[in-house]
Amino acid sequence: MQTKARSKEVSTTRSEAYEQQIERLGKAMGEADAIAVGAGAGLSTAAGFEYSGERFERLFGDFIERYGFTDMYSAGFYPFATAEERWAYWSRHIWYNRYVPAPKDTYKKLLGLVKDKDFFVITTNVDHQFQLAGFPKDRLFYTQGDYGLWQCSVPCHDATYDNQEVVRRMVAEQRDLRVPSDLVPHCPVCGEPMSMNLRADDTFVEDAGWHEAGGRYVAWLDAHQTGRVLYLDLGIGANTPSIIKYPFWRRVHANPHATYACVNLGEAYVPPEIRERSIAIDADIDRVLGDLVGLRSESSEGGRHA
Ligand SMILES: [Zn+2]
Repeated sequence: MQTKARSKEVSTTRSEAYEQQIERLGKAMGEADAIAVGAGAGLSTAAGFEYSGERFERLFGDFIERYGFTDMYSAGFYPFATAEERWAYWSRHIWYNRYVPAPKDTYKKLLGLVKDKDFFVITTNVDHQFQLAGFPKDRLFYTQGDYGLWQCSVPCHDATYDNQEVVRRMVAEQRDLRVPSDLVPHCPVCGEPMSMNLRADDTFVEDAGWHEAGGRYVAWLDAHQTGRVLYLDLGIGANTPSIIKYPFWRRVHANPHATYACVNLGEAYVPPEIRERSIAIDADIDRVLGDLVGLRSESSEGGRHA
């Protein structure tokens, strides 16, 4: 009985702390002149793009049976014997993680929270969900590529190619876990196989659109070196912190009016140097964004004094 009472006490304390954190983050968002959103894999996981478990088993049961796959991350590295088999897997992976809208409206909630601010998004996610949710393209920088684009695998030239129609056919026409050979993509310039436009190694093509977006991001940061800027880190994991997380920390450190907020289930860390201007929320991002939306509608209705 004692153990039960104690655990209840702990959970009550935790939820009160959570409420306060949401209030703080809501206030920081409201007061910010500008918001830099940095998004990692945790945001898409929160939106329902789970790469393992029930969703993986439901979409890839036949591949699991044949290859023993355990999740979509490791399956992507499998050395398929033929291009027809590899594209059977990859087309389905691309389709369900790029062209279908996210299972939850997490990205739409985020857009609702930042759309009236001067904001910019930088993300390592390659699933295009910001654009599917209606974020303006000129406020987005996808650093690591896009499942919706192919490139020459060599690469012999720096262009990327939209893959939606071919991927759709690959998904529809695959039989016995193979796509028809005439759907296997080849470079229109050199004839070598096409590959995903993903930053997996040094063959990643940074096309004109990538450079333009990167330029806009740098210009936005330069224009916001001072003032009340909120750096909002949503689900950036420990794999690639040097792309978004560390630069966010440095910018908050350099600007005494900036705030850093990190929302990450299991990895909500804040460095000591900027702790007094930081908010760390160890919780599901979809829940946090939903609570922020709720907080905002309460305050706009003037009903905060219950
Ligand atoms: Zn080529």
